[in-house]
Amino acid sequence: MAVLVVGGAGYIGSHAARALRRSGYEVILYDNLSTGYQRLAQGFELVIGDIADEAKLRPALARADAVMHFAAHAYVGESVQNPRKYFRNNVEAALSLLNDTLDAGIRRFVFSSTCAVYGVPGKIPITEETPREPVNPYGASKLFFEHALEAYSRAYGLRSARLRYFNAAGADESGEIGELHDPETHLIPLALAAAAPGSAQLQVFGADYPTPDGTCVRDYIHVNDLADAHVRALQHLETGGDSLALNLGTGRGHSVLEVIQAAEAATGCPVRRVMGPRRPGDPPVLVADVAQSQKILGWQATRTLTEIVSSAWVWMQKGSSRSA
Ligand code: UDP
Repeated sequence: MAVLVVGGAGYIGSHAARALRRSGYEVILYDNLSTGYQRLAQGFELVIGDIADEAKLRPALARADAVMHFAAHAYVGESVQNPRKYFRNNVEAALSLLNDTLDAGIRRFVFSSTCAVYGVPGKIPITEETPREPVNPYGASKLFFEHALEAYSRAYGLRSARLRYFNAAGADESGEIGELHDPETHLIPLALAAAAPGSAQLQVFGADYPTPDGTCVRDYIHVNDLADAHVRALQHLETGGDSLALNLGTGRGHSVLEVIQAAEAATGCPVRRVMGPRRPGDPPVLVADVAQSQKILGWQATRTLTEIVSSAWVWMQKGSSRSA
């Protein structure tokens, strides 16, 4: 059973590729290296190409039995500034990938969706039935693709798992792969970086939210827990399971200040920070209801915030400073 991991040289795709291989799958990576890194693909066959490049993509699809699609732009703020880029890649090019997948006779598709499809939910924790009302172009682009998968499922029998990630974080425990974003905008790597003497301060985006300590609460999930859920989702489709949409989180929320404390514990240094204004578009609390993913996949995230932050710290020290 061969899986084409599209966007496999990126942060989550590279972890999923390893999880698939550990479970006995043959893995082919496909990535245009626009935000991916060759070094995250080390040890795997990598086809370098764009998802819209049909001539490149078709021979790779011809060798695959299933597709996992991670190749998307994923900065909320950038999507507001430059929606064209987001709709071009996450919708237009992604549809080209989907059509080529269908034409190649592949009927199993696992998609990286996001809790951003829910927008600002009225109720916490967020179940899969929460109305999907994205509040930015990134979330809208992911929702469009969810709709396409639902329609293709009904019309063409393409079975899909639409996996709605909460806050992916942490790194493979080997220290060989981890988060590499340029620019880095995510809380955990920025908090760890702000623990180094002389580094830039972390700006806490808002301390006046209606939360226990006034800072935003998010559901941080270790990237290897996420990766394992992808394998389970593929196995669900392989064994004849229906198309589905599932939240992937831990079901537990942590505030920005709790993350800072975890970063201080991991590094043994104070995190230099300054309280700043709210970041536009940030809901106060996003926490997953994970009952469905537990029930259907028999899966549960096992790693704690402490493990997430310490694995990210190992990666930052050992790995992320090495050049691509
Ligand atoms: N955050 C922060 N300072 C930063 C980056 C993020 O206070 O420099 C907060 C942000 O407001 C949110 C949480 O940390 O509440 C997680 O943000 P991140 O960008 O890591 O992920 P997102 O939730 O946007 O996917």
